[in-house]
Amino acid sequence: MSIKVPFNALRPGEDIAAVKAAIDRVIASGWFVLGPEVEAFESEFAAASQAPFAVGVGTGTDAITLILRALDIGPGDEVITPPLSAAYSALAVMMAGARPVFADIDPERLTLDPRATEAAITSRTRAIMPVHLYGQAADMGAFEAIASRHNLALVEDAAQAQLATVDGRAVGTIGIAGATSFYPTKNLGALGDGGAVITRDAQLAARVKRLRNGGQTSRYHHLEPGANSRLDEMQAAILRARLPYLAGWTMRRRAIAARYRGASVPGSVTVPRQFDAGHVYHLFPVLTPHRDAFQAHCTSQGVETLIHYPVPIPRQPALASTSPAVCPVADRVCSEVVSLPMYPALSDEQLAAVARAFSSFTPPSC
Ligand SMILES: *Cc1c(COP(=O)(O)O)cnc(C)c1O
Repeated sequence: MSIKVPFNALRPGEDIAAVKAAIDRVIASGWFVLGPEVEAFESEFAAASQAPFAVGVGTGTDAITLILRALDIGPGDEVITPPLSAAYSALAVMMAGARPVFADIDPERLTLDPRATEAAITSRTRAIMPVHLYGQAADMGAFEAIASRHNLALVEDAAQAQLATVDGRAVGTIGIAGATSFYPTKNLGALGDGGAVITRDAQLAARVKRLRNGGQTSRYHHLEPGANSRLDEMQAAILRARLPYLAGWTMRRRAIAARYRGASVPGSVTVPRQFDAGHVYHLFPVLTPHRDAFQAHCTSQGVETLIHYPVPIPRQPALASTSPAVCPVADRVCSEVVSLPMYPALSDEQLAAVARAFSSFTPPSC
């Protein structure tokens, strides 16, 4: 049992030469913020995302905040969002000055539940923001119907779902806009922070471009109080170097998922269903009421696991007072969910070790 499977591997691998060349190119150019690399990356990322426009910003969190601000959503407004996600989804709503309202998740898909969402709509609701969690798209057909019935904006948190599709449609292009993140662990990661807004709306793209750069219309002329949230040239160049690998990396993630799904599932462990072949497997969570024992078993086999996420967002002290919520499904999932290693650089030997560790788990007798 000498094989070690770390949860993640963030050092560049097969892309290292391309990444180093990109870094050298930016150093030689002497241009470091909002320049030709950012512009080129924006058009290349838009094309890869099947979106007419992409705007590079500082982080995925900022991407969400700037979309909401560009839609004039702020103080006094409510945005419905899931309790199971990275807390940044909801923090971004708060950064726009609006209030996140939590509707429970679907117990099988683990994304925002359309019925709970419709029940959470009030006269202050302005937007619905599903999260395409773990790489699987939310039930967008249902959300489009709800959004149009109630005249609400549909904003997609696609930070975990680059290149994902649902019913053949690219995520981020279904609602008015999608936010993504290039945090190093994401399917397309930078070597630092970065994010992007993708949209099919030219006006919204233009407003986000203004808002990311202090609200300037031209140099030193600030029309509105914008943010300082720019993608830098170094990260844009690195992302350009890595983008051509993303389709292959996504295929590898799907192959790893198929291998895990093919392993025999021990009693008391559930593998969440794949609802759409457009799933991009940012993470591979499983559910078990014996999570501590499961993690200890994996650790003993050299396999590192992590929990995404241990606390429902509305139970976080940062949000508990402003947004209390009844979400029993998210409460249960947060107490049972645990992620197996999932990244393209996993070797066949390593993923066999993960499958072996997974399948050989026996729950403690009680
Ligand atoms: C990573 C992530 C974010 C935040 O992105 P940052 O670039 O870290 O700000 C938001 N939502 C989800 C679902 C994420 O996974």
